[in-house]
Amino acid sequence: MNKLLTAVLVALAFASCNNSKKTGTDEDGLSVFNADSLVKHIRVLSSDSFQGRKPFTEGETKTIAYLQEQFRSIGVEPGNGDSYLQDVPMIDILSHPDPVMQVQASKGDLQLKGFDEYVLSTPKTDAVISLDQVPVVFAGYGVVAPEYNWNDYAGLDVKGKIVMVLVNDPGFNNGDTSLFKGKTMTYYGRWTYKFEEAARQGARGCLVIHSTAAASYPFSVVQNSWNTSELRLDNQNEKLLDAQGWISMDAAKKLIAAGGQDTSIIAKADIPGFKAIPLDETVSTSIKTKVTYSKSHNVIAKIPGSKYPDEYVLYTAHWDHLGIGKPDATGDSIYNGALDNASGTATLLEFARAWKSLKTPPERTIVFLAVTAEEQGLLGSAYYAQHPVYPVAKTVGVLNVDEVNNYGKTKDIMVVGQGQSDMEDLLKEAAEKRGRYISYDATPEAGHYFRSDHFSFAKAGIPALAQGFGIDVVGKGKEYGKKMQEKFNAQHYHAPSDAYNVSWDLSGAIDDLQLLFMVGKRLAYGHAWPGWKAGSEFKAEREKSAAERMK
Ligand SMILES: [Zn+2]
Repeated sequence: MNKLLTAVLVALAFASCNNSKKTGTDEDGLSVFNADSLVKHIRVLSSDSFQGRKPFTEGETKTIAYLQEQFRSIGVEPGNGDSYLQDVPMIDILSHPDPVMQVQASKGDLQLKGFDEYVLSTPKTDAVISLDQVPVVFAGYGVVAPEYNWNDYAGLDVKGKIVMVLVNDPGFNNGDTSLFKGKTMTYYGRWTYKFEEAARQGARGCLVIHSTAAASYPFSVVQNSWNTSELRLDNQNEKLLDAQGWISMDAAKKLIAAGGQDTSIIAKADIPGFKAIPLDETVSTSIKTKVTYSKSHNVIAKIPGSKYPDEYVLYTAHWDHLGIGKPDATGDSIYNGALDNASGTATLLEFARAWKSLKTPPERTIVFLAVTAEEQGLLGSAYYAQHPVYPVAKTVGVLNVDEVNNYGKTKDIMVVGQGQSDMEDLLKEAAEKRGRYISYDATPEAGHYFRSDHFSFAKAGIPALAQGFGIDVVGKGKEYGKKMQEKFNAQHYHAPSDAYNVSWDLSGAIDDLQLLFMVGKRLAYGHAWPGWKAGSEFKAEREKSAAERMK
């Protein structure tokens, strides 16, 4: 046993001496969490008979039945009227783009090759989308961010045009860390934002210019994900583009040169005051679609608050995974998703059990929300955020679990998206009480904060905590923790081999859940409203709903 470990154990022993009988203290309910109980649920949810829990399949039917049955047996009430379910209507759009894009340009016509040089799809349900001689504009990073005094669309009319924009935040490509949040990617850097903003601006299409550094993954990742059908929410009132996709950096440079500009204009996009540049060219292509309508479900349960029943603390996790797909080398074709995210789903049942164990019920209502279709783009959580069962303005905060640590106790717990909200401080406080500390996402430029369900709530302005597992493994150190994470990502992430294994050590996961439970108690026994920190891109949205709350 090393010195540090001794110190941690002393701190833990001290913490548990502090035990008090009054409900709502830090210690209450913590002993309810145990690995055996967590494993029991993980084994069921990730078993072959649940078929990888893909939405609309037998796997969904079994999963939502299991969750309802468990919530009922724990004694938590249905969360949506007298139902545990919320319908999530979705559309599956299979885009068949033309194999080429014709470019008519002042410096000579050319043809771009689909898949190799660009990928394109439509979010619309029209049978055919025809782009006929549509003008192209290079709009820098395609960002409108008042809090950073940045507007790539200032004085620009892109109605009926295709905008070509860079991925990531202004300042990424020239390394100017004084812009935006420096190395940390804001939501303005995400490709999904680029499409949303282009649609708000009235553009017909948007092509995001790919570079491996700025996107944090190679073009092949884009090619593979664009080559399948896309599941979307069936949202009638959303502003949508006719066509959206990615273009390789080389092809983007070809378009810029053909349109009569020097490719050095790309570098100008990082300089404050950049003005978008219309290119002297048009592009033509078309997309045929095949559309299927289906319905999946979020599962919702609740424990009503005793004092502030119309204020809500949400625990969330996505129940879905990838289903049955391409077999791996061993012939296994069931994507069990044991860690991703049977483990997170199982924690909802454990949280429910812990909350029910408390002698005094929480003062605010606790909601357990298992969402669908995270793997297809955070759809279940987005649907909930857009059609909330409980008012967004009255939702205090969200604690999301996407995967748990299966390699033992860690001294740290990781905060994803450093400096976003006060929820982070509550986690820090809880960690310190348990002799632990918080660490931060080592690659904030990859925008992990925007890649799981908590983000859907953040976008609606609800402070949402994203935590990941620590790497500072007790007795083994950080290198070991890093190695365990890398090993999972390389061998098991989104592969059939993400299956439960008896060698899993969930003792660290239990520690992490206890911290999230402590944070939940801070929110649920009391009347505080955590907020977003200055500079957060979600602060303005919350301020709108705070005004609503005061009414
Ligand atoms: Zn996943």
